[in-house]
Amino acid sequence: MPAPMPVSVRVRDLARRYGRVEALRGVTFEVAPGEIFGLLGPNGAGKTTALECILGLRRPDSGEIEIAGIDALARPGEARQVCGAQLQAAALQDRITPRRALSLFASFYREPAEVGGLIERFGLAEKADEAFERLSEGQRQRLFLALAFVNNPGLVVLDEPTAGLDPRSRRELHRFIQETGRSGRTVLLSTHDLGEAELLCDRIGILDHGRIVAAGRPSELIRASGTAPAVEVRTVRPPNRARMESLPGVTACTGEGERWRLGTGDVNATLFGLARLLESEGNEILGLEVVKPTLEDVFLELTGRPWAAPEEGER
Ligand code: ATP
Repeated sequence: MPAPMPVSVRVRDLARRYGRVEALRGVTFEVAPGEIFGLLGPNGAGKTTALECILGLRRPDSGEIEIAGIDALARPGEARQVCGAQLQAAALQDRITPRRALSLFASFYREPAEVGGLIERFGLAEKADEAFERLSEGQRQRLFLALAFVNNPGLVVLDEPTAGLDPRSRRELHRFIQETGRSGRTVLLSTHDLGEAELLCDRIGILDHGRIVAAGRPSELIRASGTAPAVEVRTVRPPNRARMESLPGVTACTGEGERWRLGTGDVNATLFGLARLLESEGNEILGLEVVKPTLEDVFLELTGRPWAAPEEGER
């Protein structure tokens, strides 16, 4: 498949209500051509609503959406030509075969991809003429993904693409998304998996209660977070508390007995000091770990809530 022109996305002040629920409250972000961008947020944050608005499947109450420089709200048909999508609510007729479904969807576009090529690429050759109802979950997933590529899109939109997948299919899909990004296409995905966001995305936007509360490279967001790294240590005998507290770099010291956690502004200095201290006490390290802040800490800092806490009104 020839690589299409990579596509940029620009979303400004997007707002959308469902009755009294404000699903989007002024969402603004940009995705550069060829970037893998993740909308990261807990259940109900507004991820699906935002993606559906971008794809022209839902009308926002206000805001602007530009895809490849096209005003997607004024010219939705044109914007759709450069987008491919895999949504959570995807469904197909029971009797339709992968080959038939791909041909049918290809016929909607001006410059479709070649159906045989898609069947090969998404590992559907053996099942190309099998009815949809007889496909396994993994095969269905691959077919929906193939359908997202049927118009050889410059922008691929994936709504929680790995939700419900077994670990192997998940790894496969991760590899595939990374390849898609490398091939110059833009990928816009949503996830509520912090590890996935950190692994896959060049940049993320953290969506919470219909607002982007932070955006940037995962590593930058973590670096900018106020949470200090920590050294966790387990010793043979209890060390001296006062001496632990005054180790170089230490900003917080918790623990008792043989287990300690030292928040630090200088991991190396704390580790050296700790080794010297224990050596001088004739003590010994049984376990040692440097714990760095994660996106979970970033979310807690930004929202005041732990990541895993269930959302009010969660579906
Ligand atoms: P999830 O990860 O659970 O899919 P999400 O981040 O994609 O969540 P949305 O599905 O966009 O979030 O939902 C945002 C808010 O809007 C939620 O409070 C949800 O209950 C509400 N909502 C979504 N769709 C509808 C609808 N059709 N009618 C009424 N409320 C809706």
